[in-house]
Amino acid sequence: MTSQQSSLDYTAFRNEVRDFLARELTEELREAAAMCPGIFLDREYNMKWHTILHRQGWVAPAWPKEYGGPGWDMTQRQIWGEETALAGAPATSPMGLSMCGPMLIGHGSKEQQDYFLPRILSGEDYWCQGYSEPSSGSDLASLGLRADTDGDDFILNGTKIWTTHAHEANRMFCLVRSNTEVKPQQGISFVLLEMDNPGITVQPILFASGTHEVNQVFFDNVRVPKSNLVGKENDGWTVAKYLLEFERGGGGGGIRNKAVLKSLRQQAEATPVSDATLAQDRSFARDTDMAEVQMLALQATEARIHSALTGGQRPGPESSIMKNLSATVGQRFTELGVDAAGMYALVHQPEARTPGSNIESVGPAESMKAHALYFNMRAMSLAGGTDEVQKNIVAKLVLGL
Ligand SMILES: Cc1cc2nc3c(=O)[nH]c(=O)nc-3n(C[C@H](O)[C@H](O)[C@H](O)COP(=O)(O)OP(=O)(O)OC[C@H]3O[C@@H](n4cnc5c(N)ncnc54)[C@H](O)[C@@H]3O)c2cc1C
Repeated sequence: MTSQQSSLDYTAFRNEVRDFLARELTEELREAAAMCPGIFLDREYNMKWHTILHRQGWVAPAWPKEYGGPGWDMTQRQIWGEETALAGAPATSPMGLSMCGPMLIGHGSKEQQDYFLPRILSGEDYWCQGYSEPSSGSDLASLGLRADTDGDDFILNGTKIWTTHAHEANRMFCLVRSNTEVKPQQGISFVLLEMDNPGITVQPILFASGTHEVNQVFFDNVRVPKSNLVGKENDGWTVAKYLLEFERGGGGGGIRNKAVLKSLRQQAEATPVSDATLAQDRSFARDTDMAEVQMLALQATEARIHSALTGGQRPGPESSIMKNLSATVGQRFTELGVDAAGMYALVHQPEARTPGSNIESVGPAESMKAHALYFNMRAMSLAGGTDEVQKNIVAKLVLGL
């Protein structure tokens, strides 16, 4: 194929994506994405978009074709990312598509793959991640949720914390302590469980912004069959680390930030500062330009990781670089969002953020989420492993220090 032919193919692909978005991306979903004050959309809107994408066969752009992915190459995925971001489409929830799915493709049994992967694609299963505990975050290998053997089952007792969307999920992938007699890493098992299992209680934790994304989950004699183990009993640490690479290398949002930057600059044109606008303010212009440079670095890192995945490789420890950069850029953009909203950033009017709400917002619609998003994005340098821990990984596994 000549380079001219391939560029023509990509142009046709881009047009196909644009036609699809013009046809399928509803105003309600656009509004839900634009007003989302958190890292994730609520399940209701999330699933509406997920279902549309699934119908088209495009819900899992990164999955290999044989498992239900669309079989796109890296350029097609780049085009998809650009067009969806520019059209204001919501992001899909990562726990199933970007974490549990790739983990099962890499480590699940044939039966697990055949059962769970189609359910992730269809949206029938909505997953949450049970890794962290009150005393085990960065030092994850110290986790203590007890898994005692009873015949062919585990009986679970203990707690998980910061579990994102546990209140919305019907399934959890979970790390449990199945052996206390060995080195911590060698006594962990990786299990899949149902959230309506008797003995599970989900307790909400509200963010400073007032939004509900994370929870504490309690386990009181919860019975889980050992057939739900991924990998071998006591060998869950290998699976857990593999999944973390996908979590950290998953959604850098580099391309998505391009659309955010455009919107910030537009907002700044309407924000008064003395007798000019914020857009004319030199320090705001310098700050947005610097954020743009960081965003381009993030996009390049993202492209490198996508290229490795397209070639059938795993993200590798370099995903920790992306995790940190992604958090830094995300946080910087929300700081600029508060600047761009000006005095309207101070308005607390969460009810005006619901799509279709007839409550008139005080100030421009874009400013309605500025402060909540600013607070919520502080968590990005903790969730998925803290900045310091990622730097330790890069020092050890990438730089060999
Ligand atoms: C919004 C949000 C969503 C989350 N969602 C989930 C989820 O869905 N599922 C889940 O399992 N977990 C989730 N987490 C938990 C997250 O993975 C942990 O918060 C994270 O791993 C840090 O653990 P910790 O909170 O216990 O902090 P700690 O480990 O107690 O760390 C405290 C501080 O000490 C520093 N530190 C610790 N060890 C070292 C070291 N060796 N070197 C240098 N500095 C160090 C850390 O960087 C941090 O600044 C979420 C967290 C947040 C904030």
